[in-house]
Amino acid sequence: MGRMAERIHIPAREGTAVRMASGDRVRVIDPQGGQVADVFAFNADDLSEYHSAEHTRVSCERLFPLPGQAFVTQRRRPILTLEADDSPGIHDMLCAACDPDRYRLLDAPGHASCRDNLERAMAGLGFPHVEIPQPINLFMHIPVGEDSTISFQPAQTRPGDSVTLRAELDLILAVSACPQDIVGINAAQLGPIDLDLLPAG
Ligand SMILES: [Zn+2]
Repeated sequence: MGRMAERIHIPAREGTAVRMASGDRVRVIDPQGGQVADVFAFNADDLSEYHSAEHTRVSCERLFPLPGQAFVTQRRRPILTLEADDSPGIHDMLCAACDPDRYRLLDAPGHASCRDNLERAMAGLGFPHVEIPQPINLFMHIPVGEDSTISFQPAQTRPGDSVTLRAELDLILAVSACPQDIVGINAAQLGPIDLDLLPAG
């Protein structure tokens, strides 16, 4: 019999980091709907290898993988597979994580950010200095126009929508409930994110 799933609750505006063994799965859930989750994945044995959006776009020949396709590292090795998408299927992999400079430019210095959430979560696991990769922005709705413009639209998720990812390496997964409430990518009231960890075997 497989081990029990474990639920981790990420409060609105906050983040966390968890270890996953190769073969483990995680369901990333938007319990209230309309909330973006920034996801980062690092090789647990070598944090200098991590998920790379630009390498993944080449690998899957799309802006974002389809179910069954893999996210790869900058060494072009699969690190996560998009196993299932139980959401409207609208995600972004073009935009940088929000960070203190983004909020400074938005006249909101000191605002919570996905970058701070990532750094705090990784420091909590003993890694105070990490790269800030381009995230997998689950549920983020950034339509690309025919003239190549992008626009920042509200997440289309309904309460309970989720994406399931499978670890292809022993990895550290960091997830931030994006605290962006100045540009309208999240619902008016920022929501939490839940993680259901589903161990292999
Ligand atoms: Zn953010």
